[in-house]
Amino acid sequence: MKKRLLACLICLALLLTGCASKKPPEKQSRVLFYFDTVVTLNVYTNDKKLLDDVEKECLRYEKLLSKTVEGSDVWNINHAEGKRVPVSEETRGLIMKALEFSKLSDGRFDISVEPCVALWDFTGENMGKLPDAAALEAAAKKVDWTKIDINEDGVQIPADMSIDLGAIAKGYISDKIAEFMAERGVESALMNFGGNVRTLGTKPDGSKWRIGIQDPEGIRDQSVIGVVDIEGAAVVTSGIYERGFTIDSVHYHHILDPETGWSVQNELAGISIVTGDACTADALSTTVFTMGLEEGTAFIESLEGVDAIFVTRDGKISHTSGLENIFAPVI
Ligand code: ADP
Ligand code: MG
Repeated sequence: MKKRLLACLICLALLLTGCASKKPPEKQSRVLFYFDTVVTLNVYTNDKKLLDDVEKECLRYEKLLSKTVEGSDVWNINHAEGKRVPVSEETRGLIMKALEFSKLSDGRFDISVEPCVALWDFTGENMGKLPDAAALEAAAKKVDWTKIDINEDGVQIPADMSIDLGAIAKGYISDKIAEFMAERGVESALMNFGGNVRTLGTKPDGSKWRIGIQDPEGIRDQSVIGVVDIEGAAVVTSGIYERGFTIDSVHYHHILDPETGWSVQNELAGISIVTGDACTADALSTTVFTMGLEEGTAFIESLEGVDAIFVTRDGKISHTSGLENIFAPVI
């Protein structure tokens, strides 16, 4: 009798521990402010420490890649007076990736556009004021990605040059955070780094994530122009309305033509890139924006595994062929 009771108790204990290990992961959410933007995290996990650790990672990346944090790799490169600067493997890898996009776009994507970026203010107290035209012209003369020299010992740029990873870093960091979470056993997460949406796996029920494509403000009277269903991929949007202002019917915004330093003017209001990793999507959202609708569409069609949704300033929506059954416009 005692033996049977013991066997029953063992069975019960096994059942309970079995249940505990299968406890479905719970949704944990957090809203943060890093990289000059709002970061929202929705993660399915029972690891109570995870979001604190993710926040520490965000802070680490900020201290590594921000051009305004004194002592960051980027700050050190920009203040080295022409000397070579040793940097972390991550910074080196990211700058090399940025240079690939400069090559691919014939210099229209260029992290050395920083001297021009520095003359504009799209968020602060000087927002709405145009930069001095002569100063912008002089700044644009310094821009040249081919002078960014990178090797195992570090990064070297001429003393009058500076770099800004704003067009690629958020995507890169969200990929790294996704990796970090996956290593901690997370199978399901949805993150948004200021318009850079990165997913990990599927929703907990196994279905795809449904991502709303933002309406570039003022173009169509909708908050979302359509939705895409994705799994473990990224949707990154660049637009002209979040950081911009209008003077005499000209809309000035934060994507600059590296040749002139002025905002890129074409028919586009916004573009969203859909692909496997957010770093590529982020770099391409800026790059393809500079190309405009026709060239940008052809360029994306020529790339494997990358798609795009375009919204023009007069409200027309189009997308590349790979999104035929994935993108559904909201009419
Ligand atoms: P967001 O930062 O809103 O996600 P983007 O990814 O398009 O938008 O990046 C825009 C930022 O990139 C600008 O704020 C500026 O710092 C930088 N930038 C602007 N023009 C260029 C360019 N032609 N090439 C590379 N970086 C750029
Ligand atoms: Mg970008």
